[in-house]
Amino acid sequence: MQWETVIGLEIHAQLATKSKIFSGASTAFGAEPNTQACAVDLGLPGVLPVLNEAVVRLAVRFGLAIGAEISRRSIFARKNYFYPDLPKGYQISQFELPIVGKGELTIPLEDGSEKAVGVTRAHLEEDAGKSLHEDFQGMTGIDLNRAGTPLLEIVSEPDMRSAREAVAYARKIHQLVRYIGICDGNMQEGSFRVDANVSVRPCGQAAYGTRTELKNINSFRFIERAINFEVARQIDILDSGGEIVQETRLYDADKDETRSMRSKEEANDYRYFPDPDLLPLELDEDFIEEIRAAMPELPGEKAARFCAEFGLAQADAAAVSGQRELAEFFEVAAGVCGDGRLASNWVRGELLGALNKAGLDITASPVSAAAFGGLLQRIADDTISGKIAKQVFEAMWRGEGDADAIIEAKGLKQITDSGAIAGIVDAVLAKNTAQVENYRNADPAKQPKMLGFFVGQVMKASKGKANPKQVNELLREKLSG
Ligand code: ADP
Ligand code: MG
Repeated sequence: MQWETVIGLEIHAQLATKSKIFSGASTAFGAEPNTQACAVDLGLPGVLPVLNEAVVRLAVRFGLAIGAEISRRSIFARKNYFYPDLPKGYQISQFELPIVGKGELTIPLEDGSEKAVGVTRAHLEEDAGKSLHEDFQGMTGIDLNRAGTPLLEIVSEPDMRSAREAVAYARKIHQLVRYIGICDGNMQEGSFRVDANVSVRPCGQAAYGTRTELKNINSFRFIERAINFEVARQIDILDSGGEIVQETRLYDADKDETRSMRSKEEANDYRYFPDPDLLPLELDEDFIEEIRAAMPELPGEKAARFCAEFGLAQADAAAVSGQRELAEFFEVAAGVCGDGRLASNWVRGELLGALNKAGLDITASPVSAAAFGGLLQRIADDTISGKIAKQVFEAMWRGEGDADAIIEAKGLKQITDSGAIAGIVDAVLAKNTAQVENYRNADPAKQPKMLGFFVGQVMKASKGKANPKQVNELLREKLSG
């Protein structure tokens, strides 16, 4: 039997606010356990939650960014369950009326086309605390710092048909939430968590199969692996006449497998009901329009503008606009040097190469965008060749100063004086009479390739400083004579 995979993702994005969703306690990561949970986060008797307006703004910003319906009225509900890291006995979430309704995103497919993926809803909720199993032998520690941290749960339609598509969708959401500044996207620290709902059905069947929900996936690579493992497991069971149990399964990255965690059939009924301590959330048009007006340029819009303004190819524009800080770096550099294509090539090549090698994010680049643009300007105005520029870039990376200072100090200025270049060319030709003879006797079709040898010799003799274009022209002229 041929099986088709069906995937829907639930993504929890931690909203980047300083304080919690219903209290003034700090959301900073990494504090001493239980130092950042206040009476409201713990649900102690007599306290009342107060909604953090910044959280609402970030959720609306997300909704607007995906063209979703923004609910003018939404409701906070209590989701009741017992767990040690939830001292209140319920989580405040949204159920029937979420703040963000239906929207849509497009994801790139491997064949170069695009596909639309539906977003069912995005709702606000508070996070629970954390159970710490490793540090305490035979016991479990509880850290409640995370309790009350604001989350936006983004629920997709079951529109993905492969693990690759699921990863493309997760990456798109990840890029977007960072772009619009609502979430730092840190998967290791758990600020961006992806749960995958996976099922299979016989090809051609309209009804969906029974799904399992995969949790504990903390990198994009693991999303793909966990789904692929799970699809194979389900097909195995179905092929041998078995049935899929609807359940939650944990992904184990060390063993690269999924294991049953709890079965949904025996799961609690959450007994959702509107939280009596919180009024319905009502948004007026002015509030929404104010957020729309302050919306930063989105990745797709930026890429289109880069194509139009700088004449970039689409793939280059998409690459430099993929991360907001990178796009800003590119734009400054392109502005300073006046050549967008040169800037895009250098940002993608030298700059990203050096950052990757050093394991640095663009925000930590030792060379600023303006200084990088200054270097490119010296290529654009023929002060130095691209090759020399790489040398200058390395010196800049080491903190030796800006491009002009390094070019001056190391005497790297390109030789554009044609008399000086002619002198070097003559010397090279005089030294290589046999090669000159060969060249002149060769088939004209082979000559361009043979020219490379002479160019190399001249560049070497000039310590890389001769203007390569002039060298080529002069050599062709002198060799044909
Ligand atoms: P729950 O409330 O139990 O989490 P939902 O109906 O809200 O269930 O669905 C949760 C997620 O599961 C959504 O992302 C949805 O697209 C996905 N999903 C639902 N049915 C299937 C299925 N048969 N196969 C794969 N994913 C599914
Ligand atoms: Mg769910």
